[in-house]
Amino acid sequence: MSDERKTLEQRHQMSDIERLRHSAAHVLATGILRIWPEAQFAAGPPVETGFYYDVDLPHRISPEDFEKIEAEMKKEIKANHPFERIPLSRDEALKMAESGALGALGPRPEPSKFKLDIIRGIPEGEEISIYRNGDFTDLCAGPHVMRTGNIGAFKLTHVASAYYKGDEKNPQLQRIYGTAFKNKTEMDAWFTMLEEAKKRDHRKLGKEMELFTFDDDVGPGLPLWLPNGTVLIEELEKLAKETEFAAGYDRVRTPHLARENLYITSGHLPYYADSMFPPMQLENEASRQFSAIWPGVAGAAGISPEEAEKLKNRQQQSDRYYLKAMNCPHHHKLFAAVPRSYRDLPLRLAEYGTCYRYEQSGELFGLMRVRSMQMNDAHIYCTEDQFEAEFNAVNQMYLKYFKIFGIEKYLMRFSTHDPERLGQKFVDEPALWKKTEDMVRGVLERSGINFIEVPNEAAFYGPKIDVQVWSAIGREFTIATNQVDFAVPRRFGLVYKTRENTEATPLCIHRAPLGTHERFIGFLIEHYAGNFPLWLAPQQVRILPIGDEAPLLDYAHSIMAELRAAGIRAGIDAGSDKINGKVLRAEEQKVHTMLVLGRRDLDAGAVSVRVHGKGNLGARPRAEVIQELITAAQTRRA
Ligand SMILES: [Zn+2]
Ligand SMILES: [Zn+2]
Repeated sequence: MSDERKTLEQRHQMSDIERLRHSAAHVLATGILRIWPEAQFAAGPPVETGFYYDVDLPHRISPEDFEKIEAEMKKEIKANHPFERIPLSRDEALKMAESGALGALGPRPEPSKFKLDIIRGIPEGEEISIYRNGDFTDLCAGPHVMRTGNIGAFKLTHVASAYYKGDEKNPQLQRIYGTAFKNKTEMDAWFTMLEEAKKRDHRKLGKEMELFTFDDDVGPGLPLWLPNGTVLIEELEKLAKETEFAAGYDRVRTPHLARENLYITSGHLPYYADSMFPPMQLENEASRQFSAIWPGVAGAAGISPEEAEKLKNRQQQSDRYYLKAMNCPHHHKLFAAVPRSYRDLPLRLAEYGTCYRYEQSGELFGLMRVRSMQMNDAHIYCTEDQFEAEFNAVNQMYLKYFKIFGIEKYLMRFSTHDPERLGQKFVDEPALWKKTEDMVRGVLERSGINFIEVPNEAAFYGPKIDVQVWSAIGREFTIATNQVDFAVPRRFGLVYKTRENTEATPLCIHRAPLGTHERFIGFLIEHYAGNFPLWLAPQQVRILPIGDEAPLLDYAHSIMAELRAAGIRAGIDAGSDKINGKVLRAEEQKVHTMLVLGRRDLDAGAVSVRVHGKGNLGARPRAEVIQELITAAQTRRA
């Protein structure tokens, strides 16, 4: 959450849980003041996972102090004081702050310095209020729960430091974090989920399962995919390619970089420059010659030195290349490469495109925030009449994927424009905005998709949908964004011949249901806790002979050959160690299915099946088991 001051309107939109957590922040301040009455408080908002309060205090608060503070907080909750709102004039508020009585249990020798500063920053005319619970009084616009007793369960979690208002020129404060819930059951569930998430951490499992790695010499945020991780990537691509092929997509391939001009046309430069890797300046033969002869040519042609300099810069600019941060401009060029008619539409160009984004090093986080990413990208060029059906088909594709991956909870955040900000924040196309938004809304409603509408958050060039999914343990991930674009195709001069033989500009839908490999695999690792279904498992089948007699090994090899011929990733643990050791190793490596072979299996033409996490499933005929494995993998059974 940013430290930016929220408007009154935004504050009133606080959800119930945010209200409760913000109230817990007041109770936290109350508790701290009972121990350290000199504490000076700054801001105490709710955040995504709880709340914090920033405090200036000579004593350094550490987790050892939490018990003591929590005990004071419990007393305040038990007292069940009402949260009382009192409107004040600016002068009254300033007077209270000067007397040290804001963010305090009463007047104090030192003024409430941060509250004073905050009051001075409140715009003229905005109502000022204080909130009281018991003898604690704070400057606050609210809202709060009715009484301190409404805070059913809370816990202090950690301390960090933060500059006042996030500005390093300001004093450094202690930020005390906590979380709060309606009741203890919900809080316990939350901490259990966090514990489970830690076990499922994609960085931890990624290392243990040898899926991916990072290397300082390669560079931060640039994942290297080990063979096991590469299996995941290739299985996902196979799924996407099959699905997109069936849905009428055409595959394309584009290079990883492009000249500066492309991004000027797309509008990414200069606005998006901070998120792109700095450009490469190529000094080619032609431009060197050009630079050498240019002064003479310019002089002879009567071109002024300033004009000559400008022309030279332009020449050099065209030799500046950027790593691509998005695939759209390349795809637009592919649309433009061939004359298009209405008969070609809808045209769906798909590519698992590799993009590069210059994320700040402090922002990098495992696979979740990286600098190179492979995107399940496609751009659908269509007419306004085709838009609804195309958009619906994209949504159906999402639902299909959710089913395959067992994603039961998801939400589409549908961001729309604000008619009052057309021409500023949103491209000035009132009719097209209305039409596409109505169509998107209609499709979402009719298909029963779980969505919320968020006004005023659309992209500049059209409405967008952010897709959030919840992992098996209930953690939320944003995996993909769909966008409708009715401005950029025009910037690129994209046209098609209409039935009436006139020229028209297509709409473009950007979509990436499987997001990027990096983020989606990060999600899948947590979702499955690394126990991937058979079709995705890097190691699908391992054959474990009991002993190393030749006939048994021959039997193992013939089973492996049959499985591999059908595309199943099968291997043999032919070592001479005990069978228990082989099973343990396979279980540790999360091999999906183990086929244990003993003398009796060989004689009966059987295999003993063991599935990771499910244990021994008994001996069954060889042919039956092999066929079942092949079917399960091909149908991507969960
Ligand atoms: Zn408050
Ligand atoms: Zn795009």
